[in-house]
Amino acid sequence: RMVSAAPENSREEALERALRPKGLTEYVGQAKVREQLEIFIGAAKKRGEALDHVLLFGPPGLGKTTLSHIIAHELGVNLRQTSGPVLEKPKDLAALLTNLEPNDVLFIDEIHRLSPVVEEILYPALEDYQIDIMIGEGPAARSIKLDLQPFTLVGATTRAGMLTNPLRDRFGIVGRLEFYTPEELARIVTRSAGLLGAPIEPAGAFEIARRSRGTPRIANRLLRRVRDYAEVKGSGTITLAMANQALAMLDVDPLGFDLMDRKLLEAVIHKFDGGPVGLDNIAASIGEEPGTIEDVIEPYLIQQGYLQRTPRGRVATLAAFRHLGLQPPSAGGA
Ligand code: ADP
Repeated sequence: RMVSAAPENSREEALERALRPKGLTEYVGQAKVREQLEIFIGAAKKRGEALDHVLLFGPPGLGKTTLSHIIAHELGVNLRQTSGPVLEKPKDLAALLTNLEPNDVLFIDEIHRLSPVVEEILYPALEDYQIDIMIGEGPAARSIKLDLQPFTLVGATTRAGMLTNPLRDRFGIVGRLEFYTPEELARIVTRSAGLLGAPIEPAGAFEIARRSRGTPRIANRLLRRVRDYAEVKGSGTITLAMANQALAMLDVDPLGFDLMDRKLLEAVIHKFDGGPVGLDNIAASIGEEPGTIEDVIEPYLIQQGYLQRTPRGRVATLAAFRHLGLQPPSAGGA
């Protein structure tokens, strides 16, 4: 599915690892977050201390996992990686925490999906590098305190609003990742093409970049598909013409919207008169999870000005009507 901004399979994951920049200077864009990290990582290293806990939030595919790897790399420490839904029991998290070496980075993806009991044992770990664990069962059960090595938690979430306040308050550094500009994505595409050994012309790179929904993961994915197309239909070089033809075949329209983007806009316009319409109604009408719509599909449509989120629901903008070749409703209504 084109719309999914998560890695599609293990092969794609392996490719992603290969394309991941290793250091902060190779990390394109996100100037604000990068500058903050440069300073705080430098200071932590100078003092030989653990970096403050870092919360990264933003839509999938913008580089949160990549940044967590870079943070560990720049600090010269190990990275341990897990995710909210994987940590089912307090002991799962305790096992990870007690195995950390001094100043290591623990990356928890989808941190908004931690269960409350697991989150509970994270608080003292974050605050005092200590955990309370239960030993034994029944009346003989008792709790003991364990000291941990100083460490840095890097938490990633698509929705900062879903974090509990006590958890959010424990992050000293908060970075919001933004959609990338076409120029930034063109640099990423060009670099990736180089790593893949795929010849690419600047106009071809820019076309892929422009149509990647502001998202490096999508840019890298489209690059690979355009490369396949250019190898079969052309000389192998990714030119503007090859990119245009391949992207049309992939149903990525000139604005970079894919089938799901258009399906959502069409539903809001045709079935709900342009809105306002609630998220659940949209979800039911296009057969997609409300969470996927909120995390993956609509952030880009909103950022680009095709959809608005109002207190009464989602509203299609004039730009959305025009893009779909439709007559916008007249100001006074029919
Ligand atoms: P997230 O964790 O936010 O879902 P990832 O960190 O897994 O996203 O990034 C997805 C892909 O995009 C990776 O293959 C990575 O190489 C690439 N990528 C992300 N951000 C950047 C960046 N700033 N510069 C270069 N490549 C990037």
